[in-house]
Amino acid sequence: MYCTTSSLLGVFVNKALLLHEMSWVKAEEQLRRADVALLPIGSVEQHGPHNPLGTDYLIAYKLALQASARTSTLCLPPIPFGVSAHHRHFPGTIYVKPESLRAYVRDVLCSLADQGPRKVVIVNGHGGNLHSLLEVARELRGERKAFVVVYQWWDAIKELYPKEERGHAASLETSLNLYLHKDLVDMSRAVDEPLKKLSYELKGVYVPWDTRDFTSSGVMGISTTASEAKGKEVFEKALKELCSLIEELRRIPLDRLLKA
Ligand SMILES: [Zn+2]
Repeated sequence: MYCTTSSLLGVFVNKALLLHEMSWVKAEEQLRRADVALLPIGSVEQHGPHNPLGTDYLIAYKLALQASARTSTLCLPPIPFGVSAHHRHFPGTIYVKPESLRAYVRDVLCSLADQGPRKVVIVNGHGGNLHSLLEVARELRGERKAFVVVYQWWDAIKELYPKEERGHAASLETSLNLYLHKDLVDMSRAVDEPLKKLSYELKGVYVPWDTRDFTSSGVMGISTTASEAKGKEVFEKALKELCSLIEELRRIPLDRLLKA
């Protein structure tokens, strides 16, 4: 095993734990030993005029890479595309249907479980994927195939930051991008855009909203307060939670997680 830093990725990576960088010979050994595995997933969707389209999967991947190195956990390559039809009015958004994501992720997890690791943390960078991922996780648990949980960084740390900084493409996401891949962010184009008030506000109603119903820039909240230092702080806090989750899963026997 060896540790190395990739300048492209900007985080410490233990390359010996990355499935897609192993030969099948090394993978055979790793898969036999591995109890827990990480699957990063995100989306390719608009993140305001200043952030890259890949924000969600890039952040999820880097959290997973760093958590993998810190806890010696097998890490799969990221799934970049997600359920983000609600962003489709902004150029560059590439999305898949919920049923496509469910089928794809299910196949990936079944294939993994057949070869060894049956405890999986899906490191999800995009909230629009959550329902689909939980459905798959429930199916696999019901079939006693694998115990799959979904981790979302913004939920793990939300009580620490004001709401207007936690929105889509707002200060926290922008700060993470600045910390992890500064060259992909153009802060001269960052804007603050409070959510548009809708003319009809009814209680107890769910509507298939599109992002453009709330924002014309794609930013939901304040993004101009973003900084690299804040990104480092957010990353470390989110990472700590993710690492604790991995250790907890490792500690509890699979049978107890699955229950008969
Ligand atoms: Zn995002």
